[in-house]
Amino acid sequence: MNTKRRSAIQKRVKELRDEQGIMAAPVPVERIAKGLEAQLRFSPLDDELSGMVYVKDGTPIIGVNALHHPNRQRFTLAHEVGHLVLHRAEITKQIHVDKGFPMLMRDSVSSAGIDEMEIEANFFAAELLMPEEFLARSLQGQSFDIDDEGAVSALAKEYKVSTAAMRFRLGNLFA
Ligand SMILES: [Zn+2]
Repeated sequence: MNTKRRSAIQKRVKELRDEQGIMAAPVPVERIAKGLEAQLRFSPLDDELSGMVYVKDGTPIIGVNALHHPNRQRFTLAHEVGHLVLHRAEITKQIHVDKGFPMLMRDSVSSAGIDEMEIEANFFAAELLMPEEFLARSLQGQSFDIDDEGAVSALAKEYKVSTAAMRFRLGNLFA
């Protein structure tokens, strides 16, 4: 993902939040998905499946594994919304299925098999759920230690994301 693409995604995510008047965490990701006219299906799926997205006859359909932790479901939903916003042509041609823990894929890893679409959808999800400006406000006036488990988990709670996702995000933004 080059710098230009990165800023385009950041801009699009900010527009989505602004359209819905979202000024504080936790970001209501379901409301954003519905604002894009997506139909949401929360269903019990095999554990290895996180979610899926496709566009059928012009209607976006997003599936999320209802058996996963609610915070993980939020990240999955945000990731699928990312595909919908960024990769609509690709997910109209065929169903996109996400397995495993997409959020733990690092965009610094350049090895084969890490798909550009996944990197973009993860970046989109992190930007959506953990906006830099919100986090900067949450951290205002405090020195922040990424190894402070209590502080990371308090923020994760506030933003309704997993501790792992929050730690990764904070590391990217502020470390
Ligand atoms: Zn994906």
